[in-house]
Amino acid sequence: MSAMAKKFRIGVDVGGTNVKVALVDKAGSIVFTDTVPTRAEMGYEYTISNMIKAISDVMKEAKVTTDAIEGIGFGFPGQIDCDNGIVRLAPNIPGWVNIPIADIVSKEFGVPVKVDNDVRCAALAELNFGAGKGAQNLICITVGTGIGSGLIVNGKLVRGASNAAGELGHIKLQMDNGPLCGCGDHGCLEAFASGPAIVAMAEEYIKGGKSTKYRELAKNEITPYYVCEAAKQGDVVAKKIFEIIGTYIGIGLSSVVNLLNPEKIVIGGGVADAGDFLFNPIKEALAKRAMPIQGAAVQVVHAELGNTAGVIGASLLLEN
Ligand SMILES: [Zn+2]
Repeated sequence: MSAMAKKFRIGVDVGGTNVKVALVDKAGSIVFTDTVPTRAEMGYEYTISNMIKAISDVMKEAKVTTDAIEGIGFGFPGQIDCDNGIVRLAPNIPGWVNIPIADIVSKEFGVPVKVDNDVRCAALAELNFGAGKGAQNLICITVGTGIGSGLIVNGKLVRGASNAAGELGHIKLQMDNGPLCGCGDHGCLEAFASGPAIVAMAEEYIKGGKSTKYRELAKNEITPYYVCEAAKQGDVVAKKIFEIIGTYIGIGLSSVVNLLNPEKIVIGGGVADAGDFLFNPIKEALAKRAMPIQGAAVQVVHAELGNTAGVIGASLLLEN
């Protein structure tokens, strides 16, 4: 077979519930995509064979062979050994401990395979094709169940000494007695301002006797989505919650802005759907708390690529 131009890459975004696979061209456009269940409870071999099948299916659908594929990139929510393509630990995908995913998949398809953390993939996608286009120094954060980040400094992804750079959610906001964080420490930004913190605050207000819209919207379990919906309908308590959460995030970001002097902060993740209710207090806190030169240089924007950032960014790992 003659050497075909390697026009495409495959990006795989692995989540606790679903795995998204996409054939991506070099302009960052998704040509074909497929989603399969993760089903971590079946064991990692099951998930891997499902992913391999989904990758084959996507290529078949698009009528391309591995000759046209430059390589495959995987984004995982967890700690990754990027140099060796090993998933060290993925807390939301049970059983994924020290899994040499790059070796396994590379043997199957005969193309290079790269692996990195999912938030870093999102940062690469936003930098190249989304809200961060043109930036040289960019912080991409996702606010959901936790707070994660991907850092771009001088146009390059920052990975750190042990591939663990970017844990922005664990910036300390309090010396003693802060809320317990998932990392085991107290007083981290994530413990103050992620999705579970919103829910905890929302429940506190109800217990305190506040009448709020999100209580009737949620019916059963309160989630950040209902607090956001209530805010959109003018609910004072819901708006107050986002004001507090946004202020915490803005204060945390002010330390990062002072440290790295980025020109852009891109914010995504489910909680970012609150829009201005969240973004305005973030911007206000940054204006007040960041140092003047760094504060004046930075622009805070909403992520543009939504849930396609993961696969697009994973495909970009081949060159990053
Ligand atoms: Zn923490």
